[in-house]
Amino acid sequence: MSDAKVIVLTGGIGGAKLVLGLAHAITPSLIVSIVNTGDDVEHLGLCISPDIDTLLYTLSGKADTAKGWGRADETWTFMDTLRQIGGPDWFLLGDGDLAIHVLRTAWMKAGRSLSEVTADLASRFGLESRVLPMSDDPVATRLTTDEGELEFQRYFVERRCAPEVNAIDFAGAEASAPAPGVIEALTDPDAAAILIAPSNPFLSVDPILAVPGIRDALAAARAPVVAISPLVGGEAVKGPTAKLMREIGMEVSAQSIADHYCGLIDGILIDEGDRDDVSGVPQARCDTLMNDLDDRIRVAQAALSLARSLRS
Ligand code: GDP
Repeated sequence: MSDAKVIVLTGGIGGAKLVLGLAHAITPSLIVSIVNTGDDVEHLGLCISPDIDTLLYTLSGKADTAKGWGRADETWTFMDTLRQIGGPDWFLLGDGDLAIHVLRTAWMKAGRSLSEVTADLASRFGLESRVLPMSDDPVATRLTTDEGELEFQRYFVERRCAPEVNAIDFAGAEASAPAPGVIEALTDPDAAAILIAPSNPFLSVDPILAVPGIRDALAAARAPVVAISPLVGGEAVKGPTAKLMREIGMEVSAQSIADHYCGLIDGILIDEGDRDDVSGVPQARCDTLMNDLDDRIRVAQAALSLARSLRS
């Protein structure tokens, strides 16, 4: 058990909190994160992978925990200058953040894949755990809204999730393939657990599941699959998860999250403040609000202990 891998399907902020807790609960080199790249955007010629970067910053202690996104101690000379000369200022790029996008873009233009670039960046950030993009092929999350069709970053950053969402699709997903290592991780018969982080199910986890082969590998996995609900006390901690659920006609409850992952999960960890029990799949409860490192470790340990109980 001690050298068994733990695989995590994750988006950005909510998912990175869990992976950080996990990296303090078990040996970090046993963790394999499979990261959403549906949020990726090419902006000003730069290849930007927000969820991968959030994970790299969080795991290396460089994240701005107060602001909740980007790098701590960031400076903004690039943005200030861009604004002064009339460039687009809806997507914020801090100076340190920019360095990573410039390097990633140069490496990718030289022919390296996103997974090679991500592995290289992870090692330069001193990470021992593996970080895999869901795919090396472009997949773009798009939202059909009451304001028309919006690319993910236009909806999320520019419009601050205000438009009402009718439908979500993942352009390019059908033709995409899982990145090297993804299927191997999910089908590892000795893995201790596969965790679905408390990331946004519709915008962070569904794009991963839309890559052909990933959903089937998850459904057939020998390792117990445990989802951690992104709802705390019946509401999303941050971001549009609950708003989206209402807009697509779903009840905002842990049961809805469990139903959404039906056929894929063997158990779900829900918040102790959520009133109703989940039916149809084994559940465990704990305080799942992850404000500090101790909280993150507690949630990671609770998810692992649920997985252990399911295996036995
Ligand atoms: P993004 O890709 O940066 O938008 O981030 P994610 O999709 O990974 O995370 C967003 C989700 O994380 C939201 O649905 C939040 O409710 C959830 N979340 C954020 N912090 C916490 C937390 O402390 N506990 C739990 N259970 N969920 C959280």
